[in-house]
Amino acid sequence: MDPLLELRGVCAAYDRITVLHGIDLKVTAGQVVALLGPNGAGKTTTLNIAAGAHRPSAGCLLLGGRDVSGAHPRDLARAGVCLIPEGRGIFPNLSVRDNLRMMTFTGRALPEIEEIAYERFPVLGDRHRQAAGTLSGGEQQMLALARGLATDPAVLLLDELSMGLAPMVVGELYEHVAELARRGVAVLVVEQFATAVLKIADHAAVVVRGSVQWQGHPDSSLHAELSSYYLGSA
Ligand code: ATP
Repeated sequence: MDPLLELRGVCAAYDRITVLHGIDLKVTAGQVVALLGPNGAGKTTTLNIAAGAHRPSAGCLLLGGRDVSGAHPRDLARAGVCLIPEGRGIFPNLSVRDNLRMMTFTGRALPEIEEIAYERFPVLGDRHRQAAGTLSGGEQQMLALARGLATDPAVLLLDELSMGLAPMVVGELYEHVAELARRGVAVLVVEQFATAVLKIADHAAVVVRGSVQWQGHPDSSLHAELSSYYLGSA
């Protein structure tokens, strides 16, 4: 199947310091791809490039086979790319309901956003009047996912979904992500800690110092690969 999202030879720099050195990555509809690697490897930068939030200094970003390098993040969002950033991107002082409703102002969210969110995450319905910042970490991540889902994304980009959460909660969140992929969404997930995402990933890529050092099916050879990078013996 042709990839829905593709990074081809992508390089990126901050203040002329190159941090990505030719990243090649493909995500097809219905696939979960895990982007793994140690701190500072370039995972978030890669995800931001896929969302149009950072412009590649070389190489290209393709969406449905079309070159969209340099496109504005708003245009990529309209084309179905949804980024859920690290830190969740929710408004802590607004209620759960208002966090959801304000998505309709983006022009891409479905009007039935609240029904969709409360059906998938009943706890958000129970807590719809509560300030988002007072939700538990797992509930906040559900709210972030629900906001993303309301845009009916074709491509979902997730940054460190597991950050600060108990393993059981992370497992539950990834079950939702797997269900989205079964419905045809192309999912690219950045994680520093691989265990939970590898339960649902179809493909994994390990980024080290701005280059993909390994990619393939997440099998036992990946585990050996990961431990060598994380333990510094690579
Ligand atoms: P982590 O897991 O720690 O979040 P990461 O793999 O997501 O790391 P990036 O955040 O993409 O890595 O960072 C890659 C490199 O780019 C790092 O060396 C980082 O210091 C640098 N970097 C990231 N953002 C900026 C920025 N806004 N300005 C300058 N340098 C940056």
